[in-house]
Order: sequence, then C-alpha cells, then structure tokens
Amino acid sequence: MNVLIVGSGGREHAIACKVAESKRSNKIYAAPGNAGIAEVAECVDISAMDFPKLIEFAGDKQVDFVIVGADDPLVAGAIDEFEKAGFKAFGPNAAAAIIEGSKAFSKDLMKKYNIPTAGYEVFNSADKALEYLKDARYPIVLKADGLALGKGVLICENKDEAFNGVKTIMEDKKFGNAGNTLVIEEFMTGPEVSVLCFCDGETIKPMTSAMDHKRAKDGDKGLNTGGMGNISPSPFYTKKVEDFCMENIYKPTMAAMKSEGRPFKGVLFVGLMLTPDGVKVLEYNARFGDPEAQVVLPRMKSDILDIMEACVEGRLNEAELEFEDNAAVCVVLASDGYPLDYEKGKEVAVKEGFGKNGLYLYHAGTKLVDGKVVTAGGRVFGVTATGKDLKEAREKAYRATELVEFENKYMRTDIGKKALEA
Ligand code: ATP
Repeated sequence: MNVLIVGSGGREHAIACKVAESKRSNKIYAAPGNAGIAEVAECVDISAMDFPKLIEFAGDKQVDFVIVGADDPLVAGAIDEFEKAGFKAFGPNAAAAIIEGSKAFSKDLMKKYNIPTAGYEVFNSADKALEYLKDARYPIVLKADGLALGKGVLICENKDEAFNGVKTIMEDKKFGNAGNTLVIEEFMTGPEVSVLCFCDGETIKPMTSAMDHKRAKDGDKGLNTGGMGNISPSPFYTKKVEDFCMENIYKPTMAAMKSEGRPFKGVLFVGLMLTPDGVKVLEYNARFGDPEAQVVLPRMKSDILDIMEACVEGRLNEAELEFEDNAAVCVVLASDGYPLDYEKGKEVAVKEGFGKNGLYLYHAGTKLVDGKVVTAGGRVFGVTATGKDLKEAREKAYRATELVEFENKYMRTDIGKKALEA
C-alpha cells in the first residue's frame, strides 16, 4: 500500500523506517519529513497542520494509509479530516486526543474511573490558584492544561517559586492558551516508565516498556527537554508492575474513554511513576513518544502496517504483537544550548556504520541545504543501538555517537546508567 506519514521528527523517522521494512508498503511519502526520512520516503513540503493540502496530496498520490505522528495535528483533528475525506488514518480523532490535549480532562477522567494518579486541583483563575498555594505542601507541581512542547510542567520547591509559576503560566501566558487552565498536582517520587500501547477503541495491547531521560544534563540535572535519550526495556517495569498496570490502568483507561463517547484508536502513551505508594499515572500522550519510538520500534518483530491497520479497523484482538528479546538504547545528539538558545545550520558529517548490525541514525532536526545535511533543531539526531542486553546496547550506542560530527554537538553521557545500576 501507499503510505503517507505526517510529521518531521525522530519519531516519524523511526516510524518511516519500520513502514519501509513492512512487506506491505509500496510507495512511502512524508509531510514535511526531514533529511533522514528522505532516505526511505519521498518528502513533500506540506506542513503537518495544513490538512486541506495534505488531503489533496494524499488523493493525488493514491495514498492507502495515513499515519499521523505528532500531537498538534492529532489534537487539531487531522484524523477526523482524513476520515471525512475517505482515507484510512492511524491515530486518535480529536475527541480522543483530548486525553493529551487537556491535562484537566485526563486528571478528571482518572478520578472518575479510579485510575491511580497524583492528587490534584484544577484552576481557571490565577487568584484562586494563588489562594490554594498559600497553604499547600511543597514541593508541588504546576501544569499548563494544554500542549506546551513538553515544557509546561513546573516543579516548585516553595511558595515563591509556585507564585512565580502561576504568573508565568496564567498571566504572562508563556505557553499561550495552553495556560488558560492550570492543574496543580501533588509531587511524587520514583522511577519513571513509559509504556506505548496500540489501541483500537476497545482492545489495548502494550508494547515493550521504555525509560526517558528528560533533563538536559547528566545526573538528571538541568532543564526539562523533549527527551535526551531512552532505553528499552526498563528494568523497573517488572511482570508484577505490568500485570497491575494492565488491570488497573490500561484496560480501565480504554473502557473509560469508550464510556465517555471518545473511543481511543492509535497509540496511547502512558507515563508512569513507580512511587512508594504504588504505580501512578503521570500523564497520557496520544501518540508515540519521541524518543521512545526510537527504542521501541527497532525491537518490534510484528509488521507495523498489519498492527496499525488492525487498530483502525477495530480488530486488534486478532493481531499478534511481538518484540525481540533484546534491548535498545537511544542517545540524543543535540545542539549545545538546547532547550534554550542554540545555533542551527551547522554542516553534519556522518561516517559509515549505520543501517546495519543493529545501529540506527534517526534524524530529529536536520534539513537538506544544497544537497548537504545541516542541523535544523535543538535535538538533531537519535543514535540507537540494539544489543543482547542493556549493557551491550549502551556501549554500542555511545561508540556510534562518534560516527556523527557537527559543531556544538552535545549529548548526555549517562543514558541508561541508572537502569544498569538498578
Ligand atoms: P511530555 O509530553 O513531553 O512527556 P508534559 O508536558 O506532558 O511532557 P508531564 O509528562 O506531565 O509533562 O511532566 C513532565 C515531567 O515532569 C515528568 O516526566 C516528570 O519527570 C515530572 N512530573 C510531572 N508530574 C509530576 C509529579 N506529580 N510529581 C513529580 N514529578 C512530576
């Protein structure tokens, strides 16, 4: 089949590589794609948010299957538009993507259906939030309700920080309308695990687990980022935890969304924290994680198009979802300065070695200028290696980071270290 992938990050590159491996894929298109995706797909310069142009393009190219990778188009109703135009499209519709698009919605859903999560309050006015914060327990967590590129969460150590946080989110509108509503949440501790699940509106099938490294600097210091590296599987996600999550989180979430008249189809990303009081949901996302996709998909044995089509057609219960019994590590190569200011347009040199022996180079922020690959974003590449275990995958991944050079290259040196020590 002819496939159109909507998006331009490392996640979409990982999806594109998996689609290219599928026996069923014919021509692959990506909009807008990036310099790496261009190696496996034909990229077309249409924004992921320009639905009329995307639909016209898909019609012209006789696209049979559309995959929307990123949160913004999903929350804005990309799937609804493609379906209206008669296309088979993988991802949640807008009614279901709200599980990521509004943190107040997802918290209220969890409360209503008894899904374990941190205690919280929702505020629509800064005055009421400030009043509440006067007598709150610290540290405390402030979250802008809407999408904020993974940056709308502030962990506040004391009242001063929290008051400033309310000002930043609700008054200065640092995250725009995403901050019209504020969620204030109890602070939790413990290892974090990400579990991506395929869903068809009724059935939910979790993939293998992953573990993100969100902070910019080694030792989990520095600012929160979109993710500086990932490992799969997480050693903290034991069979016991998995069984608990299946019965108390995954299945109840699917049932809850169905009862609310918002059946969820696509990939549900469940962010978990293994707290001293048990497993709790940190957040839901309505799509593959980035860079979770870059460690989970290379380990997937099943044909991605078989599984995705089963999700769209509501027959996931018949599909077999299998993963290799190995491990993967992804180290993000960023532009120094990310997530704040950084320079772009630096020429990239990549030595031989990727695309074989379990080594993958996923482009996250690159573009082609006069036939040369240059940096075009904060996170530039994800270097992924698979190995028989975490130790081997980690050593391979770090060795492979030396194959990629560009000015101001920056990476964390401790991706997977904590997990290995565990
Ligand atoms: P993204 O979509 O990029 O994963 P987000 O903006 O949706 O991020 P969350 O995942 O909700 O934000 O939070 C970001 C990070 O903040 C979490 O990965 C976790 O490290 C921390 N965090 C969030 N909520 C809490 C909490 N209640 N207690 C402690 N830490 C938290």
